[in-house]
Amino acid sequence: MGWKTLDDMDLNGKRVLTRVDINVPVEDGRVTDATRIERIAPTIADIRARGGSPVLLAHFGRPKGKPVPEMSLEPLVPALETAFGCPVSFVERPSRDWIDSQPQDAVILVENTRFTPMEEANDPQMAQFLASLGDVFCNDAFSAAHRAHASTTGVAHLLPSCAGRLMQAELSALEAALSNPERPVGAVVGGAKVSTKLDLLHNLVKKIDVLVIGGGMANTFLAAQGARLGASLQEADLHDTARDILAEAKAAGCTVILPVDGRVARKFEAGAAHEIVTLNADTVLADDQMVLDAGDASAAMITATFATLKTLIWNGPLGAFEISPFDTATVATARAAANLTVSGQLVTVAGGGDTVAALNQAGVAENFTYISTAGGAFLEWMEGKELPGVAALMQ
Ligand code: AMP
Repeated sequence: MGWKTLDDMDLNGKRVLTRVDINVPVEDGRVTDATRIERIAPTIADIRARGGSPVLLAHFGRPKGKPVPEMSLEPLVPALETAFGCPVSFVERPSRDWIDSQPQDAVILVENTRFTPMEEANDPQMAQFLASLGDVFCNDAFSAAHRAHASTTGVAHLLPSCAGRLMQAELSALEAALSNPERPVGAVVGGAKVSTKLDLLHNLVKKIDVLVIGGGMANTFLAAQGARLGASLQEADLHDTARDILAEAKAAGCTVILPVDGRVARKFEAGAAHEIVTLNADTVLADDQMVLDAGDASAAMITATFATLKTLIWNGPLGAFEISPFDTATVATARAAANLTVSGQLVTVAGGGDTVAALNQAGVAENFTYISTAGGAFLEWMEGKELPGVAALMQ
């Protein structure tokens, strides 16, 4: 902890500057998936119930510091009104006088914060200007917390600040997963490449008890031990790094689990003919063979491991889950983790990259303890990095 929540703030009669993530998909001016908007609705309702009036700050797309009409937030107003159940007033160029002229129960939406380069530069003048628009700052955009921008950190240093309900849920889940977990704690780290997960692996092996490595990444670890894996996705230049990570894990007392078998095919396509092949340091595949998923023995071993854990962090699939049947191990193990969660034996926290899509495919999204939709910020937290947007709430 160390950060305040809405419960700690006096909001009555206050204009509450609220940083949100409403970067939703829009087609032909209509919101096609309102999930991100729905997730901030409890924060908006709570601020209003406490007598505060939310002044929403958000970015949309990547306008690169210039006004881009297609990236205006104005078309989102109807979707916000539906989710919040109240009128929302949009303002392109806000001033405190204009805000004070609005009814006390108004919800105000300010135009895209990234329409000026001052936002991403965390310009002190922009932070001052934003701070002048409110009395209290509430940050509910965990997904933007790894960026030090004027609307995420600059303003937090200038006003009494707190986490919104979504940020609070996200931070509580992440703290329960890694800062202060019930042990034993394990992690599944899968996905395509070791190179994008180096910081994650180095940090996790120091903090957790069991690390399950899957996906294309596992190929690199197996190859580093001598396996010859044909045309499998792997990073030959990272064999030393993979061995270093295994040594670090050993020194820290973290057990590493690599696949003991794999679903192997000659074509990277749905329904490709495949066989299950034992994987170890002596495995030699033909030049055109690819390991596209963990095999059934690996899935059984991973599932048995989950039953020994109290906490599980999940990032990345165990195989090329987009093409059937190479989603088999991901789906089977995700379902096992979900069942343990439902029966109260396991706390499961997942996020980053393709993880949400993979878990949705397994149909378990509802049953994990927490699934973060915050991609980059989730990974940076798991890498042990300080998130400026969270640090600014600790003042
Ligand atoms: P990431 O974004 O790093 O989490 O990687 C996810 C991607 O890795 C997905 O698109 C998967 O299809 C891919 N992937 C996982 N395992 C394999 C594998 N054994 N061979 C090829 N691609 C894989």
